[in-house]
Amino acid sequence: MKDQFNREISYLRISVTDRCNFRCKYCMGEEGIKLLDHKDILTFEEIYEIVQIMTDLGVKKVRITGGEPFVRKNIMNLIEKIASIKALEDIGITTNGSLIYDKLERLKEIGVNRINFSLDTLKEDKFKKITKSCDFDKTIRSLEKALDLGFKVKINTVLIKGFNEDEIDSFINLTKDRDIEVRFIELMPIGQAKDFDKENFMGNQDILKAYSYKDLGYKGVARNYQIDGYKGKIGLISPLSNKFCKDCNKIRLTSDGKLKACLHSADEINIKGLSKEEKKEQIIRAIYNKPQKHQLENSTSASLRNMNSIGG
Ligand code: SAM
Ligand code: SF4
Repeated sequence: MKDQFNREISYLRISVTDRCNFRCKYCMGEEGIKLLDHKDILTFEEIYEIVQIMTDLGVKKVRITGGEPFVRKNIMNLIEKIASIKALEDIGITTNGSLIYDKLERLKEIGVNRINFSLDTLKEDKFKKITKSCDFDKTIRSLEKALDLGFKVKINTVLIKGFNEDEIDSFINLTKDRDIEVRFIELMPIGQAKDFDKENFMGNQDILKAYSYKDLGYKGVARNYQIDGYKGKIGLISPLSNKFCKDCNKIRLTSDGKLKACLHSADEINIKGLSKEEKKEQIIRAIYNKPQKHQLENSTSASLRNMNSIGG
């Protein structure tokens, strides 16, 4: 289905939980965060129904995200059901990688084809500092296994001033012999961690200065590059300095059943608890009224949520 600005909305991102076993400083922050009540979370049946309606309306691609999707009990049951929807051409997962290791074979079998791992450092001590988790080894093992199993793997690296600029070349090096995409994401000032995000912002415009590379152009939100002679790709995601709204094809579903047609807008439409027909009406309304562009450059996201409850 097209929105009023003629953009075809074909990509649904589902945050299946706002909970997470990590506490990344730029997302949930260290101090703890108010989490949703279990009764306010969409059931698997409701999520499945919403995906069916969306695919009828032209959605072809789904990404499961969170919080951390694998902290939700029995999440594999939901992923299997979604994967059985014939109209879906592409199913991806965004994960911190710590809980996915023993699920990878099954995910491959049922047709999940993409996995994005969030990884901001390649050093265990720094990993602990930024995530407040000791699961560095588990994350790395899962990432390597996903590559071995033939998933399309991306690494999402959030650039954090004074924290990981000294590792940029090490991340770029990962693309030398591996068919992997490393995406450098600029911090977005959103939710409870927005002060941290503003103070530690670092642009990604100079990252490739020392390299000779091919510009592969935009693919979704990332502008892609390939260093000459390297197997993998580098993606630069610059929501602040480079708006990609005119090509945005996404709609988001939060874990408590709100449709967000724009990540950085405060506008949300509730569809939890509605009948199938009512859900469909509201989905059509949300898609049609998707905002033309975000206003993030006015310093802060207008979204009232933390990133863990939207899913990135
Ligand atoms: N827990 C999973 C993970 O970390 O991959 C999925 C949810 S997480 C909210 C999705 C993505 O959002 C991650 O890649 C994370 O780095 C990114 N993210 C969270 N807060 C952000 C912020 N303030 N600015 C930019 N990216 C952010
Ligand atoms: Fe959890 Fe992902 Fe947010 Fe980190 S970025 S706190 S792993 S939801």
